[in-house]
Amino acid sequence: MEQLFSDGIRNTPSSFIREILKVTESDEIISFAGGLPNPISFPTKDLNESANRVIQQYESKVFQYATTEGYEPLREYIANRYQEKYNLSYHKENILITTGSQQALDLLGKVLINKKDVLAIERPGYLGAIQAFSMYQPTFTGIDLENDGLNTNMLKDKLMQTKIKLLYTVPNFQNPTGITYSFEKREQICGLLSDCDTVLVEDDPYGDLRFEGENLPYIGANKLPNSVLLGSVSKIITPGFRLGWICTQNKDLMKHLVVAKQASDLHSNIFAQYVTHDYLTHNDIKSHIDKIRQLYKLQSSTMLQAMKQYFPESVKYTKPQGGMFMWASLPDGQSALDLFHRASEKNVAFVPGDPFYTDITNAPTFRLNYTNSNPEAIQEGIKRIASVM
Ligand code: PMP
Repeated sequence: MEQLFSDGIRNTPSSFIREILKVTESDEIISFAGGLPNPISFPTKDLNESANRVIQQYESKVFQYATTEGYEPLREYIANRYQEKYNLSYHKENILITTGSQQALDLLGKVLINKKDVLAIERPGYLGAIQAFSMYQPTFTGIDLENDGLNTNMLKDKLMQTKIKLLYTVPNFQNPTGITYSFEKREQICGLLSDCDTVLVEDDPYGDLRFEGENLPYIGANKLPNSVLLGSVSKIITPGFRLGWICTQNKDLMKHLVVAKQASDLHSNIFAQYVTHDYLTHNDIKSHIDKIRQLYKLQSSTMLQAMKQYFPESVKYTKPQGGMFMWASLPDGQSALDLFHRASEKNVAFVPGDPFYTDITNAPTFRLNYTNSNPEAIQEGIKRIASVM
């Protein structure tokens, strides 16, 4: 029935990571491939208490259909948190609860992208965003990612050459590289976008997970009229609830996003929204996040030490200040996909760079996740990868 499928789905790559995760399900494999939070960071007992409490307190309401925009107290909580932490003047009207921030990407695609619209993304970029946007058949243009953020000369040239509808960024502890944009780069990007109507998307699921350095202001949130900020509970509470959010002060955009979400799934899981709000207001979320940060700091430094010890000097890698990923580069001409196959034979996995680009194959780069392996496994896994380099 090939001729029956839409152009959108035929143009959308299947998630390479899902394919890899199938290979890495065996217990013998040390996997740095997935982007999984460490399950010991899930506040199971506190969530259990919150689940019981909201059922007692709100009874059938927690199981009923609900509004598309999301549970009001949760939207208020999120707005207040941005106000306190980043001095952003968001209110509940600026927040739409989504089914993970992944849905936020899909809704932005639905609302903004016509076929062949030019969409700028980091190069390399988050493959889930490439996948979500591909459905709407844009023309992707990659902006090189440097150690301190986007190559702003390249961005400037592209903005001058062509009309860019949307610029997608992950400014903190980027997926896949772990890179964080510097203050200067953030200001430069904001300056470049202030002259045009390009929609800036700042996707920030990892922002709370900083274990080194100071928090930096967002690029355009609260500054540029066409700016969108995405957040999620996936990395600080649990990904299984599938709860994220879109923040924007642009009322027209918000209106269309709400309609697109209505058409998509009516609303996100209301029970999970009640439980999340109860959990956030009955527990010390700051100290919970501090524990996750300490854990990831140890795992990240263990991986860095192991790479220093075992990898040849010609292999370069990023040193993240937070988040869940590192990005390694083999000398030019070498393929990380080949390395992946050799490493699989040694029962260790990572994600080769190809799916993070829209324009190259056999990239010499690969992504390593450090949050879902204990320090011993991290040491051993890096040693095994080094043995087939
Ligand atoms: N954006 C980025 C940059 C991510 O890394 C992820 C998770 N892998 C997502 C969005 C999706 O997260 P969520 O669980 O909130 O849908």
